Amino acid sequence: MTINIILLGPPGAGKGTQARTLVEERGLVQLSTGDMLREARTSGTEMGRVVAEVMDKGQLVTDEIVIGLIREKLETMDAPGFIFDGFPRTLPQADALNDLLAGMGRQIDAVIEMQVDDTALVDRISGRFTCGNCGEVYHDQTKPTAKPGVCDVCGSTDLKRRADDNADSLKTRLLEYYKKTSPLIGYYYAKKQLHPVDGMAEMDEVGRQVAAVMDGIGGR
Ligand code: ADP
Ligand code: ZN
Repeated sequence: MTINIILLGPPGAGKGTQARTLVEERGLVQLSTGDMLREARTSGTEMGRVVAEVMDKGQLVTDEIVIGLIREKLETMDAPGFIFDGFPRTLPQADALNDLLAGMGRQIDAVIEMQVDDTALVDRISGRFTCGNCGEVYHDQTKPTAKPGVCDVCGSTDLKRRADDNADSLKTRLLEYYKKTSPLIGYYYAKKQLHPVDGMAEMDEVGRQVAAVMDGIGGR
């Protein structure tokens, strides 16, 4: 039996953090279109250049590109289950994902909606930085490194901020979310796949709520 879940929520909702826990504790494989696109932009190709420009403005990359990236992963990777993080972000992407999974005899088992206040998102995102080596996520105010400039987890000094974690791009990202992604909440609600969790709670509590959903669908 395989388990496939979607993490849905606005930028800064904490999808990446929860995905990391699920990877560590349940052996699922995280498919983050944001990470794939950040990788693509370093490829030096024309596609990478276009992607970089769109991402830095905070706009969505075309459905065609992200669906292609996901298709490629699904066709080449084997896993007990996938966590879709940052995908789907539009209704056409959601339909494409259903079709791709159906073609593999798989399905989405749960959509975990991370609910957060808009006002919190700006603060969360503007202080955010990550470790380029191990991926740990930090925050200037709420979760600084113990030693400035050094990752607590792996000791790397390769700490970085995303080019789109600034006020202008964030405004566009939020607009894109409400215009194009938030309709997915109704879509998955109607399919009886939606499981809301309180993304404003402390990280451990959010983790417990996510774990409860996973246990409920048999995702041990
Ligand atoms: P966040 O959830 O913090 O906005 P992501 O890393 O998921 O961050 O995405 C960063 C950027 O990558 C988005 O603003 C968008 O430009 C692009 N992107 C990621 N996933 C998708 C997607 N499924 N469809 C279109 N664009 C995407
Ligand atoms: Zn690290």
